[in-house]
Amino acid sequence: MARKTIVAGNWKMNMTPSQAVELINTLKPLVATDAVDVVFCVPAIDIIPALEAAKGSNIQIGAENMYYEESGAYTGEISPAMLTDVGVKYVIIGHSERREYFAETDETVNKKVLKAFEHGITPIVCCGETLTQREQGVTIDFIRQQIKIAFLNVTEDQAKKAVIAYEPIWAIGTGKVATTEQAQEVCAAIRECIAELYGDDAAEVIRIQYGGSVSASSAAELFSQKDIDGGLVGGAALKPDFGKIVNYKDFKVVEY
Ligand code: PEP
Repeated sequence: MARKTIVAGNWKMNMTPSQAVELINTLKPLVATDAVDVVFCVPAIDIIPALEAAKGSNIQIGAENMYYEESGAYTGEISPAMLTDVGVKYVIIGHSERREYFAETDETVNKKVLKAFEHGITPIVCCGETLTQREQGVTIDFIRQQIKIAFLNVTEDQAKKAVIAYEPIWAIGTGKVATTEQAQEVCAAIRECIAELYGDDAAEVIRIQYGGSVSASSAAELFSQKDIDGGLVGGAALKPDFGKIVNYKDFKVVEY
């Protein structure tokens, strides 16, 4: 079974609501394709105007985070029901910036993944090693641990719908993209880990993205790898170049 490529933008803490509308209007014609699932994960306050601006297009709007409780005294948090109420279908869970600056752990990632599935939201589950871990040769062990904990108590049917984003921390926002071999090696290891946890059927359908300084010039080679089903894109998601990343098949020979 062929897996449909999924390219998601992570806007991080960028774009006011009016800028969000402007950016979506600019990108809409550039990302128009049925060949790829296109998701814009935007700051919470941008979600409603972004949904409105994306109406009638192929762009799906996602969130960058979500809390794992239903409601209550959790000042500043966004609940899953708040997201589904307005039509959000995807949420990034466990981005390395949230792990680093907002004390997210594999355990909170797991709680959020379970809660997202409970509400029918597809989690984009992030994992990735530090440069030190890569140099110590423990990348695959570390990623396997992150995945095993993130998927604790997740059923096979749920796992099949998940998206995993492999994002080496040393490649995020640094301009240092992983080599195709490095990215493919880890994505293949993630798929193998899913096969061990859920069997070959789940491993065959789960979508695994690469993220970390993806650009219009690196997307084609990365996304053509056997185990890489698209990308999670930060900086380049805020530029017209995002259109080239989404339409990577047409931009294979672009040289910069
Ligand atoms: C990200 O934020 O998930 C990311 C991959 O960022 P960048 O593309 O800017 O490295």
